[in-house]
Formats: sequence, structure tokens, C-alpha cells
Amino acid sequence: MTSAKPTVLIVEDEPAQREVLRYNLEAEGYAVSCAENGEEALLMVQEGAPDLIVLDWMLPNVSGIEVCRQLKMRGETKAIPVIMLSARSEEVDRVRGLETGADDYVIKPYSVAELMARVRTQLRRVRPTAVGEQLTYQDIVLDAETYRVTRGDNEIKLGPTEFRLLSTFMEKPGRVYSRDQLLDRVWGRDIYVDTRTVDVHIGRLRKALTRHGGDDPLRTVRGAGYALG
Ligand code: CA
Repeated sequence: MTSAKPTVLIVEDEPAQREVLRYNLEAEGYAVSCAENGEEALLMVQEGAPDLIVLDWMLPNVSGIEVCRQLKMRGETKAIPVIMLSARSEEVDRVRGLETGADDYVIKPYSVAELMARVRTQLRRVRPTAVGEQLTYQDIVLDAETYRVTRGDNEIKLGPTEFRLLSTFMEKPGRVYSRDQLLDRVWGRDIYVDTRTVDVHIGRLRKALTRHGGDDPLRTVRGAGYALG
């Protein structure tokens, strides 16, 4: 069964450190991309927002602090969790790092296990189903670890695309997603799929969710898209 991997952007100018991070994050099952400096990082985020950023403080030209500040100033990027890495251990620096809006702060040399745990904590907040959490909406329960969905006492059988659609909706009930947003999240931005395909899969998801009775929890928002609840 497929599930879109959480995406992590590493921003680190030292190649050896970058590779250690890449190796460990890929081993955890994340899709990893790397930037060597702050300018490159900001451009990459503009092209496609990652789910999380691991950002080194000490970078040439634009420092990690400045990159973080810029990301947290913009509406489209401020929700992306940033874990700041730093060799500076003084409390005042830690405070400064968190004041720029960094979501967490890890001091070098760090323990890989601890960093991975913190990455997971941040991702759980923004992509709960991608890290195997269980989500509940009214009588619908989705378990992202076992790929099981139940409604009341009934098991709901879903194809991989319908499962990912439902995960997306259940992560943010009430949020309206346009067809293009759903294509990006569920199919991925590199695949060309007609927007009408979204309607077809929404139809299948609706049918599966209401097969054993119960109201249709999906709402069609005219001219805008779809929402759960
Ligand atoms: Ca560095």
C-alpha cells in the first residue's frame, strides 16, 4: 500500500554532515532533498514546500537564523516546522533560535536517535497519518499504521488512492481542498492527472464510506472543491 512519504529538506553547507543527515532521514522512510546554502533553500521551498526543514544555523552568506526568519514571515511557509541545528550551546542562542520561530533547536554534536525523535514529533503535528498515527472523525477511524479504516463497527475497504484522500481530509477536518490541492497531495505534483480523476475517486470514497449506512461525511463546495464535514 502506498502512502506519500513525508518530505524533509536539509539545509547544511558541510557535505559530510549533510550526507549523515540524508542517510539517517532516508532510513526513517522520508523523502529527502538537500540545499547547500540559505539562498538555495529559500528557492527550493518556493518551488515546493517540504513537510519539515532541518536547518543548520551556520551557513555561508544567509545564516540559518535569517532563513528561518524569512520562512516564518511568509504565510505560505510559516507552518512548515523548522528544526535548527547549531554548534552554539549557550542559552541565549537557544532562545534566539526559538525566537526566530524555529520549532525546535538541537545542539551539535547531536545524537542521531534524538534528532530523529524530534523530527518525528514535529511531523506528527503536521502530517499525522504519514508517521502512522490513528485519526478519528466522528465514527470514522483511520489507522495509518495498519491501513485500516472503520466506520462504527464496520470495516471500510479502500483502494490506495481513496485511503490517501481520506487521510488528507482527516488530517484537517473542515478544510476545503481544491482539486489541484488534492492532486498535489494525493497523486504528487510530478504526475499528470486530469482534475476530473479527483471527482471519480471522491465518488468511490463516498460510496465506500456510506456502504454500511451513515451520512455522507464529504461536502462538495461549489467552485472550490471538497471538505470533510
Ligand atoms: Ca554549517
